Amino acid sequence: MDLPALYLQRHRDRRVRAGHPWVFSNEVDMDKAPLSTFRPGDAAAIRTASGQWIGSGYVNPHSLIAARIVSRVAEEQLGPALLRKRLQQALALRERLFDEPFYRLAFGESDDLPGLVVDRYSDLLAVQLLTAGMERQRNEVLAALETLLKPQTVVLRNDVASRTLEGLASAIEVPLGAAPTLVEVCEHGAVFEVSPLQGQKTGWYFDQRPNRARLAAYARGARVLDVFSYGGAWGVQAAMAGAHEVLCVDSSRAVLDQAKRNAARNQIDDALAVHCGDAFETLKQLRAAGERFDIVVLDPPAFIRRKKDLDAGVEAYRRLNRLALGLLPRDAFLVTSSCSSHLRRDKFLEVLMQAARSQHRALQILEEGHQGPDHPVHPALSESAYLKVFFLRVL
Ligand code: SAH
Repeated sequence: MDLPALYLQRHRDRRVRAGHPWVFSNEVDMDKAPLSTFRPGDAAAIRTASGQWIGSGYVNPHSLIAARIVSRVAEEQLGPALLRKRLQQALALRERLFDEPFYRLAFGESDDLPGLVVDRYSDLLAVQLLTAGMERQRNEVLAALETLLKPQTVVLRNDVASRTLEGLASAIEVPLGAAPTLVEVCEHGAVFEVSPLQGQKTGWYFDQRPNRARLAAYARGARVLDVFSYGGAWGVQAAMAGAHEVLCVDSSRAVLDQAKRNAARNQIDDALAVHCGDAFETLKQLRAAGERFDIVVLDPPAFIRRKKDLDAGVEAYRRLNRLALGLLPRDAFLVTSSCSSHLRRDKFLEVLMQAARSQHRALQILEEGHQGPDHPVHPALSESAYLKVFFLRVL
């Protein structure tokens, strides 16, 4: 295979050789092969300083992540055959795990498909090409998906902020089929409407699915507050599991309208109310009004998107959880999440304990949740284990 080589500096190759899929720009041996000789998305052979093969991958000279490894097998490189093989592998896992065709089909590096995300809503596939290297394979990716799944519709949700770092434009396109308005997603016996063109991410947060299923065990007869509710995924599940009253809070009127429709669709609309407002303000108002809940679910957007936001983000998690604890009497439950990969599990727990202490509360950890298995974790890439959920009892 005659790929141009990218060499790692001597003594700076251990992490990559141990299995990490990224080469950072300061690890590249610029004397042997300057990054400037590569264009964004060019394929390369990643080699040690002495020329030993590590893997094939693709390069972006403008990104801090200078190269991503696609395969460690000699002669294997990104292209139609490898894409088909990897997507097939990814599909086999999901088909084993799920009875119905609703899931994240491909989760980037964790499925050995760096820069590619695919969500499946039955006959509709929502695709995200996150890197210059994967963008180059656009037609090959679409062809592989069509061969494998024969979808009716494919949507490209390339309106992702991280594409800017790769020098790529933000765009939403419909390369196959007619522009969809709404599709359905089925989860634990409930049905939800999803807007694949306008929804957040590709319309649905598949990652919380197993955790929402666990909520059912706590929900019977409960009064539930679903904060950052989006389309009511947690709240509707809670009501279907017997919660007698659910209040969904979100700052977006449009998603709350969707939550109401989702409640009606599942015939629990009598039990579900919505409130449009800022979560922090709403929690304060509920407290001032003397409201109490048996369960509060917190599923906020990532408060820490970049490392430099760590302190401010940690403070936001602390404040949010403190406010939620203020609405929970003893023996009530707090189900609290963080999807910020920069906030490690132990730090999150420390923040929760601080929040509890400030409210003169103690906590029991009943269960811990993670992203579902359609978002596999790459064992060498700690960022890929991003979702932490604690099911807590308040004492
Ligand atoms: N719990 C949802 C996903 C939540 S996504 C699920 O399981 O599907 C985060 C949600 O938080 C979005 O719907 C967004 O509109 C909302 N949001 C973001 N900032 C907010 C704020 N300050 N107050 C209230 N809602 C907010």
